[in-house]
Amino acid sequence: MNGVKNGKNTRGNKPGKGKQEFHHKKNLGQNFLTDEMLIESLVSLAEVGENDCVLEIGPGMGIMTKELCRRCKKVVSVEIDDALIPILRVGMNKYPNFSLVHGDVMKINLPEITRELGPFHVVANIPYYLTADLMNMLMASDMPILSINVMVQKEAAERLTAKPGGKEYSVLSLKAQYYGKPQIVLDVPRVLFTPPPQVDSAFVTMPLYQKEERAFAGEQENLFLKVVTAGFAMRRKTLLNNLMNTFHMDRNTVETWLQASDIETTRRGETLTLKEYINLTDHYPA
Ligand code: SAM
Repeated sequence: MNGVKNGKNTRGNKPGKGKQEFHHKKNLGQNFLTDEMLIESLVSLAEVGENDCVLEIGPGMGIMTKELCRRCKKVVSVEIDDALIPILRVGMNKYPNFSLVHGDVMKINLPEITRELGPFHVVANIPYYLTADLMNMLMASDMPILSINVMVQKEAAERLTAKPGGKEYSVLSLKAQYYGKPQIVLDVPRVLFTPPPQVDSAFVTMPLYQKEERAFAGEQENLFLKVVTAGFAMRRKTLLNNLMNTFHMDRNTVETWLQASDIETTRRGETLTLKEYINLTDHYPA
């Protein structure tokens, strides 16, 4: 395989000597992992095993992909970079439980591609530029996703797991904690990536609630997401003001709504717990 490990290819030569050189693309978030022991820990922390199917986003050179294929029933990996496709095809050809999809994970038909897996887990060292969009897309999708286990920037990990009050607490925190149980399970220093990114990372595991376990469904769920988004629309304003603006309601109506939900009218959106947002949605003035 034409792999690059610690700045050398897998034959121990400097990249480019007798082999085609691979240039990491910054714009595709190509910070690769090379430490086999770290990979083993990550896959163990994701708690996937022989009966599990996995979707991997961004296999890169395939280091995590191989470990997933060794341990799991079936692995589908989606890679956007043309230059990595032949490398992966050669490097992964001894794993019959592996399928490679060449494309942009945000544009391909993921439900179609993952249909053969049945219920599946996501395990990936994702490109950091995609974190929020990808998490939002996966959490809210109709695909039978059992858990999302991803390496993300430390800051993004803190946002996913944040509790009310802190500056990291955001719409993403509430969505993540509504759809699942995000947890930071490992801090990963930047030096363990090639090339090292400018930030430290963390591995987050997040078992997802199944649809019937969630507080809302259908239109009510959309309303809940709109209420949460309204709560953070303008951080310097009170929840009362943000709700008035988003829902085009007068002060009196929103004050009555907040009182019915047991929420003081002076509160700011970033101080409300998930439970309070659920309660607020339940008392939406129809
Ligand atoms: N899994 C490898 C590892 O841990 O060494 C590579 C991880 S690297 C952080 C992110 C990978 O995602 C790269 O291989 C990159 O080319 C790929 N990627 C970036 N944007 C993508 C997209 N929109 N769709 C699919 N893959 C993407």
